[in-house]
Amino acid sequence: MSAGPARLPAVCHRCGSDKLGALVPCKTCGYVPSGADRTVAWLFSEHHLSGPELVAAAERVRAGERPEPSRALREQARLAMGAAPTLERAAQPLSLSHKLLIFFANLLLTTLAGYAVWFGLRESRPRAAREALLLTVPLSALFSLLWTLEQLRELLG
Ligand SMILES: [Zn+2]
Repeated sequence: MSAGPARLPAVCHRCGSDKLGALVPCKTCGYVPSGADRTVAWLFSEHHLSGPELVAAAERVRAGERPEPSRALREQARLAMGAAPTLERAAQPLSLSHKLLIFFANLLLTTLAGYAVWFGLRESRPRAAREALLLTVPLSALFSLLWTLEQLRELLG
């Protein structure tokens, strides 16, 4: 997985020039995709088109064709673009203060605290959830061991 949003080859949908990154300004005509045109710009990138398709699209724009993507395509682009921040968030680790909080909650209260954090984050932030679990499972195992030893001691004593 790459860090940050990928800058894939794209084509300026105003003049047909190549550029790197769908939303960056065009070096040839200076056009910066904004508002709803950002979805069109995204469709004119390798997020959506293959290399050869992108070349063909650039030729059509240079020939004077005005891109008119369907509503469904725009919606697809909007959803895909909206998904990017979510992916970044999914890779976000726990902050140190958060880790300390989980650690001490596990230690002083119950390891259920750590499992609760894991359960709450496992869908939206799998990485952070995994870290919470790593802070919890060893302590939880240790507590079970101590508890078992205590039970054994009572049995034998
Ligand atoms: Zn351009």
